[in-house]
Amino acid sequence: MPFDAAQTRYDSMHYNRVGKSGLKLPGVSLGLWNNFGTDRPLDTQRAILRRAFDLGVIHFDLANNYGPPAGSAESNFGLVYGSDLKPYRDELIISTKAGYDMWPGPYGEWGSRKYMLASLDQSLTRMGLDYVDIFYSHRPDPNTPIEETMGALATAVQSGRALYVGVSNYNPDETRAAAAALAVHNIPLAIHQPRYNMFDRHIEDGLFPVLDEIGSGAIVFSPLAQGLLTDRYIDGTIPADSRAAEGRWINSSTITDDYLARVRALNHIANERGESLAQLALHWVLRQPQVASALIGASSVAQLENNIGALAKPALTVDEIAAIEPFAVDGTSLR
Ligand code: NDP
Repeated sequence: MPFDAAQTRYDSMHYNRVGKSGLKLPGVSLGLWNNFGTDRPLDTQRAILRRAFDLGVIHFDLANNYGPPAGSAESNFGLVYGSDLKPYRDELIISTKAGYDMWPGPYGEWGSRKYMLASLDQSLTRMGLDYVDIFYSHRPDPNTPIEETMGALATAVQSGRALYVGVSNYNPDETRAAAAALAVHNIPLAIHQPRYNMFDRHIEDGLFPVLDEIGSGAIVFSPLAQGLLTDRYIDGTIPADSRAAEGRWINSSTITDDYLARVRALNHIANERGESLAQLALHWVLRQPQVASALIGASSVAQLENNIGALAKPALTVDEIAAIEPFAVDGTSLR
């Protein structure tokens, strides 16, 4: 069936400006780190991507290494893009990244100019795109000058392969240095992509003021702590089809007594608001003014819909944020 996007796709989604840039992102964006490799049926992937776009989720986040295997999420996205989404290219914000291990040898990872630009070209080919909207340095490289890595991002923009650039997993000092290195090329550091959720609060230690200082905004990844901040494991068992059962990134050791006590208390607060725990977790990251978008994953259309449903509910009150505080304990989940 050819895809005919819903006419209603912009009726209810909220779009937030990213820092001082012209980039606007939906309150909830969809990432393809998991659930879009060759281990998942393409029909399910297509259904999730179609439903997301129909609900106003115009931003899809990828990286060279997403899969498994590495590269397959971009290839699968490229298939659905080619068959369904291509007519809507000018409505879409598609991002990719380079930084982690992709191919053998000294130029297969990190932040050299050679790796960054070769990887971007490979990503464009896999996705069937002429350009990406955002190209990220996926992680800081301690051994390559920041000027070189940012120079590669600048070339990506100047050569038309990317419209905006960003960094991911950079600490506050690295972020400030990245913005300064890009400024030499008259290119702003538009966006930062850090991990942030109730169980991982490390970025509260200094990143937000730096983003204000340099005019950048944030899209935060794993806002649901990979599913730990949902009802997925709340009864203390691990569903066979869950990420914890798969065991690549989280596993049964994550489901501790402390975890269960905190997640059940948070679930109670969510239920009192008439929403799911996942929705509460999304409101919680979006309470920060620098956070333009919560970057979720979803293994089903139902999960996606539940998460986007958060945006129809009221923001957290000061009292609710205070009630959450004792249970939003950094370090509860595995890093
Ligand atoms: P989340 O914290 O949103 O976790 C997603 C998982 O949570 C799903 O796969 C699903 O688990 C579960 N889930 C989601 N919604 C619900 C729901 N409503 N009810 C119950 N369970 C739910 O995000 P991810 O960790 O997947 O990361 C999101 C994106 O962030 C990635 O795809 C990627 O784009 C980006 N990212 C970036 C990184 C970086 O270094 N820059 C690193 C990691 C992620 P299950 O599969 O068990 O059903």
